[in-house]
Amino acid sequence: MLYVNDIFYSIQGESSFTGYPCKFVRLAGCNLKCGYCDTKDALDIKNSNPLSIGEIISALYSIGGGNNVKLVEITGGEPLLQKEAFDLFGELIKLNYIVLLETNGTISLKKVHKKVIKIIDVKCPSSGFSKEFNYENLKYISMSDEVKFVIGTDEDYDFAKDFLKINKINTGKLIFSAAEGSMNSKELAEKILKDGLNVRLGIQLHKILRLK
Ligand code: SF4
Repeated sequence: MLYVNDIFYSIQGESSFTGYPCKFVRLAGCNLKCGYCDTKDALDIKNSNPLSIGEIISALYSIGGGNNVKLVEITGGEPLLQKEAFDLFGELIKLNYIVLLETNGTISLKKVHKKVIKIIDVKCPSSGFSKEFNYENLKYISMSDEVKFVIGTDEDYDFAKDFLKINKINTGKLIFSAAEGSMNSKELAEKILKDGLNVRLGIQLHKILRLK
């Protein structure tokens, strides 16, 4: 059984898949408690239903025109806290889904199915959890994966910049997103331009469109 906070259908808003219709499975529970978390409801396992992998797959089929939309994102909370999530990836891949995984990078990615596209949200200092990153995970990042930094302060920006300078990251898909309410996207865009960084400015499209 997996503890599922929500299964829904919306526009993908925070990666290189931005703008595509996507089915989402939001798993409950997280090992962090970031100040700016916008999915607080999903942090508590009490706000979830236990569902089997078969039930999750049926629920996914019931949205997004059955098999028409084949993009699915497993998110949370922190999905990798639940061991069965690893089996869910395999079953979805067998069904020809393109599977995205949003993870905070603190739990080992070693056993994640090779075909899963990992979106790794490296926590910056304003989250309160920048020391929690599992650096061994850098070994498991491939060209199709994405690395994201949510930036709310100048210190966060410098942290993200240094992280990219110091660490060898095997993907060019790097995203800097402004933390809502702390830094605006224009200010962040100007910093990226000034410093000549090869990173994508992340804009939370689903929020602009006021979608879930
Ligand atoms: S890791 Fe993600 S889900 Fe967990 S508290 Fe931080 S922002 Fe929220």
